[in-house]
Formats: sequence, C-alpha cells, structure tokens
Amino acid sequence: MNYKQILQDIHKEVSALKNTSEVANYIPELAKVNKDQFGIYLNNINGENFEAGDADVTFSIQSISKVFSLAMAFGSQGDTLWERMDVEPSGNPFNYLSLLEREKGIPRNPLINSGAIVVTDCLVSSLKNPKEDFLQFVRDLANDQTIDYDYEVAASEKDTGFRNYAIANLLKSFDNLHNPIEEVLDFYFHQCSIAMNCKQLSNAFFAFANRGVCMQNNTCIKPKQAKRINAIMLTCGFYDEAGEFAFEVGLPGKSGVGGGIVALLPNQYVITTWSPGLNEKGNSYYGMQALERFTTQTNSSIF
Ligand code: GLU
Repeated sequence: MNYKQILQDIHKEVSALKNTSEVANYIPELAKVNKDQFGIYLNNINGENFEAGDADVTFSIQSISKVFSLAMAFGSQGDTLWERMDVEPSGNPFNYLSLLEREKGIPRNPLINSGAIVVTDCLVSSLKNPKEDFLQFVRDLANDQTIDYDYEVAASEKDTGFRNYAIANLLKSFDNLHNPIEEVLDFYFHQCSIAMNCKQLSNAFFAFANRGVCMQNNTCIKPKQAKRINAIMLTCGFYDEAGEFAFEVGLPGKSGVGGGIVALLPNQYVITTWSPGLNEKGNSYYGMQALERFTTQTNSSIF
C-alpha cells in the first residue's frame, strides 16, 4: 500500500473542503491558533512512518492527555480505579454537569472531564511529584525528552476553567475527590496543556496499538490494560460523537479541543491528524474527514 501517496492525496482533497469550523475559544490561548493548519502522521508497527502537511507543528493536546493519565493511573492502581468511575459512554459534552449530579458523583468514564479529574486525583495521591512524573511518563511513551507543558495554555485555562471547578466541587461533595481542588485542577490543566506534534503523538500511542510495548521495545502498559483502554477510546473517545466516529472511521481514538485526533488499529498502525477548526461537537472537522477517507480507502478498520 502506498501510504505516502494516500496521505498526500487525502490531505489535498480535505484541504480543499469549505471549512466553516471554528477553533476552541473558551480557553483564550487556544483561540489564537491559526485555523488553516493541517497535519497527518502515520506510524506502523513495522517501524515505517509517513506524513503530510503540518505534521511537525506542535499544538495543545488537551483531552488527548486523558488517555495518558488513565494509562498511568490504571497501571499503578489496577481495577480499583473502577470503584470511582464507570466505563460507559456519556452521550453528553465533555464538561457536562447534570449527569454527575444524577449519578451521585461517579463519572460515566475516564475520558470526560469529571472522570479525568478523578483520575488526576488518583495520580496526585500516588505520585511523589505529579507534574514531573506525568511528563516523564509521556516523554518515555513517545521516546522524546523534549515534550513539555505549555505554561501559558495551562494558566489561560486556569483563569477560565469555571466548569471544571464546578465539576471538582461536585465530585468533592460526593466524596469522590480526595485531594485539595486547587492542587488537582492545577495538575489537570497542566496535563491538558502538553504541546506535541502529530509525530510525537503517534509515537506515544504506539504502545496502545502494540499490546502495551513501546517503540523502545519495553512494556510501558500492561497488555490487558492496553486492550481495555482501547475499548474505552472506541466507546468514549469523541465526546457525544463517539458513535459517529465509530460509524465513519471505525477505530479507537481520542480527540482534543486543540484539534488533534489520534486513532489506531491494534497490531497495525497509529494515525494522528491535527487541524484546529472544530465541528459543533468539538472534534476536528478536517481530522474527521481525513480519517474517514483513510480507513475507507485502505479498507482498514476494526470492523
Ligand atoms: N482542558 C480542556 C477542558 O477541560 C479539555 C477539553 C477537551 O479537549 O476536551 O475543558
């Protein structure tokens, strides 16, 4: 299969689509990003890689970081994690509050904000230096020690993160947040602010496609946990559009409001797209279009 040509053709075709999408503006720093950027990077299990467009421009990974924090917390505390959250799709936006109230402080899954904030709380309890240790985990997954937080994005979100403060307060009222709210959210905002490019993200997700074994050939994630995290990505990775993503693309993956999408076919490849213009559900418009074309043209999806 000529992946290089396929990616370049898809990039060209999708770039020509009329783009009425909008960049996320509820975090002021994200509103400054130029919408016309668009990159794709594919990384396969045999070690080959292919790219098109802005694959080496860094962007804010936002909610894609929830997969990394989940992998870290699941790795250290195992199935006890599920005493504090569920693994069901929410069918609601990522920062929705009323479901959490109705379900007595047990988040639907670890990839919506409430679940991710509980995961962050677990890491604050278990890690000596949460911010440093988490960053190191991501750097090791990606095999790239240059990856870093974007402190301006983190500060910008802290200033405007009213809904996340509301979620944290609600969790605390149900006794499902054990550490101080300020400390947990400060760590959460930093996780979301990590800046990576398509290549670094594809490399970091390699282990999820490769039964837990990273590119450096060591086991970073237990194989049975990689399997479960992939299942959660498939059912919960795309806000209230997880069904649509499975229908159109047919791969487990995760998106973020920075415009990134990472998707993978177990035992085959990881593909990352980035384009900051979002559709009305918060997923990258060009990214969804490109991934639909990719799995259709290469006839490769989990279905
Ligand atoms: N940091 C963002 C928030 O909590 C993440 C949103 C996202 O990418 O879904 O609002």
